[in-house]
Amino acid sequence: MKEKAVVIYSGGMDSFTVLHKALAAGYELYPLSFHYGQRHAKELDVAAAVCQQLGLPHKVVDIRAINTLLAGSSLTDDIEIPQGHYADDNMKSTVVPNRNMILLSLAIGYAVSIGARKVFYGAHSGDHSIYPDCRPEFVQKMNAVSLIANYEPVEVVSPYLSQSKIDILRDGLAMGLDYSQTWTCYNGRERACGKCGACHERLEAFSLNQAQDPLPYEQAEA
Ligand SMILES: [Zn+2]
Repeated sequence: MKEKAVVIYSGGMDSFTVLHKALAAGYELYPLSFHYGQRHAKELDVAAAVCQQLGLPHKVVDIRAINTLLAGSSLTDDIEIPQGHYADDNMKSTVVPNRNMILLSLAIGYAVSIGARKVFYGAHSGDHSIYPDCRPEFVQKMNAVSLIANYEPVEVVSPYLSQSKIDILRDGLAMGLDYSQTWTCYNGRERACGKCGACHERLEAFSLNQAQDPLPYEQAEA
């Protein structure tokens, strides 16, 4: 019998790669997506389509109610989305307070509920500088807590924790993954904008892998 595992799956390229890596490793996967009030549902639509195609039991949990507690973030509020690179200071406005701790907690609770002993999570090193809750020490400590928080220990598995988005993409391309089945752009228009921090990082990862992003863009990155 296959071992059950939950995978936190946003529909973006990192978690898409993690999902496929876990599938290839032979897990019975339960992808979990969060509707936290994203400006657009495009990532979630893409996630749902991928899960349907793979025949996986996709859950989308609506946690928008938590935004009544949490301070504004440009990903959810009407603050202008900053353009430019993630490393820039202005990208701090894309931080949702305590988001990853909340999402991991819910995923761990879901894992316990369905008898899964692992939660796959796509944190990577490129996020660290601005997102404290993407740093390795955060994920390691969440894992330590997860192992003792319930009667059933649940392990938080982050296969790319010490690697970059470029490494993740390299791995995914080597697996033959089709990244047209992912969405990264903060804007939910028909084509990716090519200008927001998420597009910048994505295009950079493709460029450094000497690969062409299969997604259509409104304009090429300058
Ligand atoms: Zn964009």
